[in-house]
Amino acid sequence: MKHTKIVDIFKQSELVGTKVCAKGWVRTRRGNKYVQFVALNDGSTIHNLQIVFDLQKFSDDDLKLVTTGSSLCVVGQLVESQGRGQSVEIQAESFELYGTADPEAYPLQKKGHTLEFLREKAHLRMRTNTFGAVMRVRSTLAFAIHRFFNERGFFYLNTPLITASDCEGAGEMFQVTTLDPNNMPRTEEGEIDWAQDFFGKFTSLTVSGQLEGELGATALGSIYTFGPTFRAENSNTPRHLAEFWMIEPEMAFYDITDNMDLAEEFVKYCIGYALEHCADDIAFLEEHFDKELTQRLHFVLENDFVRLPYTEGIRILEESGRKFEFPVKWGIDLQSEHERYLVEEHFKRPVILTDYPKDIKAFYMKLNDDGRTVRAMDVLFPKIGEIIGGSEREADYDKLMGRIEELHIPMKDMWWYLDTRRFGTVPHSGFGLGFERLVLFVTGMTNIRDVIPFPRTPKNAEF
Ligand code: ATP
Ligand code: MN
Repeated sequence: MKHTKIVDIFKQSELVGTKVCAKGWVRTRRGNKYVQFVALNDGSTIHNLQIVFDLQKFSDDDLKLVTTGSSLCVVGQLVESQGRGQSVEIQAESFELYGTADPEAYPLQKKGHTLEFLREKAHLRMRTNTFGAVMRVRSTLAFAIHRFFNERGFFYLNTPLITASDCEGAGEMFQVTTLDPNNMPRTEEGEIDWAQDFFGKFTSLTVSGQLEGELGATALGSIYTFGPTFRAENSNTPRHLAEFWMIEPEMAFYDITDNMDLAEEFVKYCIGYALEHCADDIAFLEEHFDKELTQRLHFVLENDFVRLPYTEGIRILEESGRKFEFPVKWGIDLQSEHERYLVEEHFKRPVILTDYPKDIKAFYMKLNDDGRTVRAMDVLFPKIGEIIGGSEREADYDKLMGRIEELHIPMKDMWWYLDTRRFGTVPHSGFGLGFERLVLFVTGMTNIRDVIPFPRTPKNAEF
């Protein structure tokens, strides 16, 4: 018999009174000497399906291996439930035990484990309510992202994960090599001879698909990337991963204002989509982790983001009378505490901070007429801090070269990037959204390790 996903069993009222087959993992079993109740979950929804085993039909012995974590196929009549807490239940007629889960050994035998404990059991944690909910929200958000861009005529561009350009992430890139670390080939001068490496040059994992994204945008008009990025930054914070996913739209003919409009519309769309399609999971997360979750999500949806130049932001921070751990003055890179003060205390709304000092931003950002700030835009969110970083790009070849020389950026492998400014250059803009930061915001979780199935952080790549 074909099985029905539990989410569909709950949704399809016409199934009541028919025979159905459900498959899943046992969350709990309880009952008395007349009847046993099994809560079955198959991952398709936060809600468990109740299976009723009448002990006139089944013996204790039949059921003794039906323990938490074991896996079942059950066939029986779907009926309206008499009990509280569920709408329908299956009156079991037959079942097959796929696999047992020894209660002595199964790590999720008990409920209520801490998130820290579950991080140690990352290979199993998706079987819990919490991680099931988070991963369903994550998947739904990924779909919303593709849908948003697809509806607006953006093309999905796959940029390389292995790159030979090290101009952006110098110092925080993971090296890619097939050379034997115990026997590195040397040039006559005694340097490591990268020409003998797999790609014939020094290569790394990408820190961003943007530069290649610009090649796409200056050909296809509007593109977005959505893929993994790698940063060997040794920052053990609740907001940084060594391997994270980034969405990077890049648009020809967009100026900084178009870029801000798109960023705001984009995050609101994703949040709205999750609220609509993950209501049960969000309600669960709200109840267990973050009582203000839905309220905060609606608040972001319903309010315009503040748009504020960096210089103004610095003035507000200086005049706040607040003692920050990192002192504030014009020219500093804002720390999370500064970002959160602006968003959570001063404006009480998401803030798009623009026109940063050129010295703290990347070389490719368009220089303003003042000669000291660039057309950058960071979107700052409550609880998260920076969720998006973007800019209008410098489209002028000479000005771009000027910045490159000023910063002594090794551009010898970057001639292809400069060609966008040599041949048919156009005004263009783009930004990067850290996918896990969005998932953090929408789920109300507080540690980025809990919103990706298999987190990679310093000293941790077990699962
Ligand atoms: P931060 O200051 O928070 O380290 P960044 O300035 O290095 O961020 P960008 O290089 O602008 O970030 O990257 C674009 C987006 O990618 C950021 O706005 C953020 O959402 C996300 N991001 C950056 N680094 C990480 C990381 N290590 N782990 C997860 N997400 C990240
Ligand atoms: Mn960073």
